[in-house]
Amino acid sequence: MAKKEQVLLIGNGTLITLGEANRIIQDGAVLIRDGVIEAVGKTATLRKKARGATYINAKGKLIMPGFVNTHMHFYSTFARGLCPKQPAAKNFVEILDRLWFPLDKTLNADDIYYSTLVPLISAIKSGTTTMIDHHESQGFQLGSLDVIEKAVRKVGIRGCLTLGASDRYKKGQDGVEENVRFLKKIQAKNRKGDDMVTGMMGLHALFTVNEDTLKVTCDLAKAFNTGVHVHIAEDKADEDFNKKKYKKTVVQRLYDAGGLGPKTLAIHCVHINKAEMNLLAKTDTCVVTNPQSNMNNAVGVAPLLDMLEKGILVGLGTDAMTPGMVDDVRVVNILQKLANKDPRVFFVESCNLLLNNNGTIASRFFQKPVGVLKKGAYGDVILVDYDPPTPLNGNTFLGHFLFGICGARVDTTVVNGKILMQEGKLKGLNESAIMAASRKQAAAFWKRF
Ligand SMILES: [Zn+2]
Repeated sequence: MAKKEQVLLIGNGTLITLGEANRIIQDGAVLIRDGVIEAVGKTATLRKKARGATYINAKGKLIMPGFVNTHMHFYSTFARGLCPKQPAAKNFVEILDRLWFPLDKTLNADDIYYSTLVPLISAIKSGTTTMIDHHESQGFQLGSLDVIEKAVRKVGIRGCLTLGASDRYKKGQDGVEENVRFLKKIQAKNRKGDDMVTGMMGLHALFTVNEDTLKVTCDLAKAFNTGVHVHIAEDKADEDFNKKKYKKTVVQRLYDAGGLGPKTLAIHCVHINKAEMNLLAKTDTCVVTNPQSNMNNAVGVAPLLDMLEKGILVGLGTDAMTPGMVDDVRVVNILQKLANKDPRVFFVESCNLLLNNNGTIASRFFQKPVGVLKKGAYGDVILVDYDPPTPLNGNTFLGHFLFGICGARVDTTVVNGKILMQEGKLKGLNESAIMAASRKQAAAFWKRF
């Protein structure tokens, strides 16, 4: 028996397509068939094509693509309220040594499962529909990505997963093995048409990775036709270490190992120089900036204007400060203005990072486009409760976005044509039960930490 088609029509709202030809369609609609957008247009026109469709009335709401988060760490969840090892860390390296390294080394399978579910629920509520995650759990690596995959599939968000291999405890090989095992499994599923979860190779950062682990990871990234998800020059300490030990800048070392390319995610790049930028531009490598995290760790401000000027594709991540995107897009705007002492910069750029570049980046990892409402893209859509107090049109959209829409309530979240939240209510997930289980799990984890 043929599988019944799943058809969803969302109409009667103000539709924002995003993408290269961003259009704003009043009384707009999007028609999604079996997870993929079939048409975008006027509600009256699409109604005729959508017989038998489930209908969502978006009256008084914006219909937009779901947000994409291009750098997240689900595993950080149990840090909330946790007291790090004392005395208090006074720099980035100490923050790793006293909080993040001991935390990830303590995680077991159940810890990882709940650490993943919790931010994913928050992502649904804040309209984030695709997450590119970077995992670390040095005490339990082999099989850890399966645990994350299970949680991602349960929640129903689109995810690209990796483990950041590292030699900090002489276990780099386990991290590489886990990525290989997971990629073999997930790419077999992807070939059969499943595209909800994908994978890539990953490294923690070049100052905790030796030459063998670096080279084998870069070679495998090529073999699997994926890139490397890796922290680059987040703190000056990364550059100093690599220059001292390898006589190379961080980006040069990754380039020499064959690790740069369109599917590589160079996270942070706060302390890179012009020559490193040229290598990133030449290889079409993606950079992901995480402004709130950089401020929180007091590591510096990424030279984003220089990178954009060189044509580097820069996306926006949260580095686990929040699962949702709206705080970081507002922060990157004001941080870059302040750092450059120029109020003219980064209004358009900040919106571009999130609304255009993140979709472009994520689309490199999935079989169909994400982050845009157009025919053939995935049906990942949000409704935002936003009644514009001033005229909303193509010329004014970014002002509305940064200063209004970002603070508005996400009403409905749809991923792959499936309704995950409607009118503010989660579907198919018992949030309070998950939070209660997470609290119990976290309390036990804190005792082991
Ligand atoms: Zn990170």
